[in-house]
Amino acid sequence: MDVVVVGAGVTGLTAARALTDLGHRVTVFDKGRRVGGRLSTRVFANGGRADAGAQFFTARSNEFACAASEWEAKGLVHEWCRGFSSNDGHPRYAVRGGMGQLATALAGGLDVTCSVHVEQIRVGADGVIVTWPEAHGHGAGRVDADAVIVTVPVPQASVLLGSNVLVPPISYLPTLSLMVALDRSVEISSSGGLQLVEDPVLSFVGDNHAKGTSVSSVITFHSTSDFAASRLDDPISSISDRLLRAARPYLKRASVLETQLQRWRYATPVEVFPKRTFSTEDGRILLAGDAFGGPKIEGAFLSGMAAADQINRGA
Ligand SMILES: Cc1cc2nc3c(=O)[nH]c(=O)nc-3n(C[C@H](O)[C@H](O)[C@H](O)COP(=O)(O)OP(=O)(O)OC[C@H]3O[C@@H](n4cnc5c(N)ncnc54)[C@H](O)[C@@H]3O)c2cc1C
Repeated sequence: MDVVVVGAGVTGLTAARALTDLGHRVTVFDKGRRVGGRLSTRVFANGGRADAGAQFFTARSNEFACAASEWEAKGLVHEWCRGFSSNDGHPRYAVRGGMGQLATALAGGLDVTCSVHVEQIRVGADGVIVTWPEAHGHGAGRVDADAVIVTVPVPQASVLLGSNVLVPPISYLPTLSLMVALDRSVEISSSGGLQLVEDPVLSFVGDNHAKGTSVSSVITFHSTSDFAASRLDDPISSISDRLLRAARPYLKRASVLETQLQRWRYATPVEVFPKRTFSTEDGRILLAGDAFGGPKIEGAFLSGMAAADQINRGA
C-alpha cells in the first residue's frame, strides 16, 4: 500500500518504520526543520546541549520495554536514574546526545521530508489526497495515498481534515521550557533531575550534563501548565526573564552564558482517547499519537505501532 504519515515525531516514525518493514511504501512529512516533534534537543554556542521537550522515558509495557532494550543494546539510550525523589525501581532512560537523537535514529532509512506544512487531507475517488502550499523552499505539492496516518496534535488534525471528519474533542495543556547554559556545574539533585509539585511557576528541573546529554552545564526548566497558559503568547524576553527569576535559586553562584526558550502549545493531552487509534469508517484515515496511546513517549510508540498494524491488516 502507499501510505502517507503526517508528523515525524515518535508516533509517526514508529508507524512508518513498522509499515516499511512490512513492505509498504511509506512517505513521511513534517512541518519542522528536523524530525522529532516533542523530542527536541537544542544546541548552545559553547557546544552544550539541552532537551527542550521530553526529558526521559519509562517503559512499562512489554512491547515498549523490548524496543527500549534494543536501543540500549545499540548504545542509543542509557538508564539515567530510577526516580527523582526516591528509587521506585523503574528505569528512566535518556538518549545519548539528547532526545532528538532517538528521532534521528528512528528516521534512518525512511522516506522523510521536513519543512512541509501539510494544509489539507481529503478523501478522493481512489484514496486520500494530501496537499501543502509553497513554503520554505518547497513548491506547493500533492500526494495521493491508499491511507494516511495523521500524528499531529488533535486540534491541528481537525483543521487538516476539515468538517468531513469529526475528530475526538481532545484538548492539550501547554508548557514553557527555558534552557540555561552556565559557566560551571551546579548540583540540582543526586540524579540531576527534580520534579516540583508545589511550585506555581516551575514543574521540572533537569541537568543535561548530569543526565549525560551535554558536555557542559545546561539546565532545562519546565514551567507548570498554569503558568504557561497565562504567558504562552507573551514576548520571548518577558517569559525568559520571569522563568529565569524562578530558576535563580537552582543556579547558585553560576553565571548564565545563554538562554533559549521553547513554547509548547500542545505539550500534554488532557484527555486520552480510549483506543490507541481513531479511524474513519473506511479505515483510510487514522489518527494516532500520545492522545491515543497515553501522554508520553511510550504512549506515542504504542499508538504508532497500533496504527501500522491496523493499516497492514486492512491491506
Ligand atoms: C515539555 C514536555 C516534556 C515532556 N516530558 C516527557 C517525558 O519526560 N517523558 C515522556 O515520556 N514524555 C514526555 N513528554 C511527552 C512526549 O514528548 C510526547 O508524548 C511524544 O513525544 C509525542 O509524540 P508524537 O509523535 O505523538 O507527537 P509530536 O512529537 O508532537 O509529533 C507531531 C509532529 O507533527 C508535526 N506537524 C504538526 N502539524 C503538521 C502539519 N500541518 N504538517 C506537517 N507536520 C506537522 C510536528 O512538527 C511534529 O513533529 C513531554 C512533552 C513536552 C512538550
